[in-house]
Amino acid sequence: MNVLLPQAIEPEAIALLDRENCTITTAPDPKPETVLPLIKDAHGLILRTGITITPDLIEAADRLMVISRTGGGLDNVDVAAASEKGIIVTSNLGVNTVSVAEHVLSMMLILSKRLSTLDHAVRNGNFAIRYQNLPRDINGKTIGLMGFGRIGCELGKICRQAFDMQVIAYDPYLAAEKKNECHSWVRMVELKEMLSKSDFISIHVPLTDQTRDLVDEAELSLMKSDAILINASRGGVVNETALIKALESKKIAGAGLDVFSEEPVSGDNPLLKLENVILTPHTAALTRECVARMATEAATCVLDVFAGREPRNVANPKVLESGRWKHNRAFESAV
Ligand code: NAD
Repeated sequence: MNVLLPQAIEPEAIALLDRENCTITTAPDPKPETVLPLIKDAHGLILRTGITITPDLIEAADRLMVISRTGGGLDNVDVAAASEKGIIVTSNLGVNTVSVAEHVLSMMLILSKRLSTLDHAVRNGNFAIRYQNLPRDINGKTIGLMGFGRIGCELGKICRQAFDMQVIAYDPYLAAEKKNECHSWVRMVELKEMLSKSDFISIHVPLTDQTRDLVDEAELSLMKSDAILINASRGGVVNETALIKALESKKIAGAGLDVFSEEPVSGDNPLLKLENVILTPHTAALTRECVARMATEAATCVLDVFAGREPRNVANPKVLESGRWKHNRAFESAV
């Protein structure tokens, strides 16, 4: 079976595919024009974030059985087009939860403790900056979580347990069962209350039509002037132009951003010149441990489909009901 990798994946996952005698093709680069001729023969595709799988690519993928995302987001796959062609789409939910939560927490600490400013000052001979009392404690402060799914909940737990923080969250879609489970340590609130009462706001919602620009000028104007906004979800959830304005005018104290409206960030993005931000290149989930977990899980999903087993986290389960997959006829129809 042929497995296409638009971008390289970890050796642990390659070993799994090798063990099952898969033929692995790694694209020289993840540009659509490079991937297009390679996708024709692929039975499985393991997808990181460097390429969007568009209807054009799916159209060319005549033998493709499964698109397996290494991460949780599916915004770089046209799931509808894949479904129409009977291609199973899987994502990797939960594997990166702890890594992203740790990343956000470190951004909160770096910004509160003003580590970049202090480090820079020491290197430039300004030891006297210590008398300005720039750092702030996070203990006892309020964190507002926009989205209380896997990552939001994990971060909330850490903030509560390790830093005695008050945890409030806005998530109108949260199941009643989950609300009941957590009600002793998190208070679910409306968006306006979350924005206006939090010292830290961390965003953990998927990018959808409903969440695009969910944090815009009006929402930023509700935040406290010493509050910090962290976005490690997707760039489009925050209106970047409005955020830059709020940061430049010190309407809010700072921001930690792992995701951007345009990635890679262009050299003239005003964010690059701001002192009250910390920027990382979409690396919240890219710890050594996490990428190995993500790649092996993604490879396992591909191998499950090849073997006629239902993989975990199918994003388009209706496809499993279609003629191609019913009664596990996968091999006969696709090879
Ligand atoms: P999840 O599905 O477990 O949780 C998402 C939560 O958002 C759900 O509880 C849902 O009810 C809530 N939600 C949906 N729409 C909402 C809205 N309009 N308002 C408020 N809440 C809403 O997902 P997760 O694993 O916690 O991940 C969250 C997001 O983080 C992912 O969708 C992904 O885009 C992003 N992510 C980024 C990285 C990174 O490297 N920076 C890594 C992993 C995930």
